Amino acid sequence: MAVELADRLKKLPPYLFAQLDEAKDRQLAKGVDVIDLGVGDPDLPTPKPIIDRMKEAVENPEHHRYPSYEGMLSFRGAVARWYKSRFGVELDPATEVITLIGSKEGIGHVPLAFVNPGEVVLVPDPGYPVYGGATILAGGEPYNVPLVAGRGFLPDFSAIHGDVLAKARLMFLNYPNNPTAAVAPLDFFKEAVEFAREHGIILCHDAAYSEMYYGEPPHSLLEVEGAKEVAVEFHSLSKTFNMTGWRIGMAVGNAAVVQGLKKVKTNIDSGAFQAVQEAGIEALVGEHGVEEMRQVYKERRDVLVEGLKSAGFQVEAPQATFYVWFPVPGGSDSITFATRALEEVGVVITPGVGFGAHGEGYVRAALTVSKERLEEAAQRLARLMV
Ligand SMILES: *Cc1c(COP(=O)(O)O)cnc(C)c1O
Repeated sequence: MAVELADRLKKLPPYLFAQLDEAKDRQLAKGVDVIDLGVGDPDLPTPKPIIDRMKEAVENPEHHRYPSYEGMLSFRGAVARWYKSRFGVELDPATEVITLIGSKEGIGHVPLAFVNPGEVVLVPDPGYPVYGGATILAGGEPYNVPLVAGRGFLPDFSAIHGDVLAKARLMFLNYPNNPTAAVAPLDFFKEAVEFAREHGIILCHDAAYSEMYYGEPPHSLLEVEGAKEVAVEFHSLSKTFNMTGWRIGMAVGNAAVVQGLKKVKTNIDSGAFQAVQEAGIEALVGEHGVEEMRQVYKERRDVLVEGLKSAGFQVEAPQATFYVWFPVPGGSDSITFATRALEEVGVVITPGVGFGAHGEGYVRAALTVSKERLEEAAQRLARLMV
């Protein structure tokens, strides 16, 4: 029998990193000491008090049974209290907060709840590939909204055509941004809320990097007056507490959107392991390790940015996230440059075009190795400048 993929899978964009993955495997097989700045996954361990709480929670038989779809009220309450203290935003834990199995789970499911076949989802380009992928899996059509340096990597709402807007149901935004590291001012969020209200579009703001900052703390979109009428915010403990493997996040905001997500979850998964939610409460209440995390990435950022600058790269220090996003030198395309970095000097960086057509001309380096390795990476990349 020939196993045929469903059309929706065939519609997913090609995986642009395949060529680079193969090249990396070849270098490793040759015994090259590869420095991998490719993946956005923290290298540091989860803070100890969170692990200890997990150990205790895992012994509790109550947590061995199915969790509720929307998550424990105690976890949702901890989320609401954290939003109040961090952003000054009031949330009703009963109706405006839902536990997710990592924020990717909610981002992946939200188009299933609100997008009909043929309807449009506005997605940032460059952007986290899940926004477009989830849209296609739901039968919707992603419409790429360019993020360009000249506008601080913020979308230009006025450039989106009326016929697109008429079919648009959702818009994804993500600040602090992956991959550009841009931060959005509160005025931009006000503009976004107005735009969404005017065109009847649900705003889905991905705030996974809100705690990974080196200057002023970034805003929540929900700080905008009336934002809850049109918006949900996706949040994650993954980056803030080095918990990518634990799979715990949340969506907060508009109660009808939260309800729609719950309906999808009811039919697809059975919620997040309660012991992990207990550990999540510990993380949010104790804010364990967050200040130290920022300090570590700030030092790493400075090492890499200074190293690249003195080699002649045009690069600015990011004010948030653990990514350094910089133009490819000498006008080559991003895949060619990333391939050279790997094959000539053994450094993995991500070609910007993998995040969308408007990422072309840039590469992304993740600060997920030690200062010493970043210094070495900068020295190696400098050899590509001569
Ligand atoms: C890492 C990341 C997430 C977090 O995903 P989880 O599923 O919560 O681990 C979400 N959005 C973006 C843009 C990310 O880079």
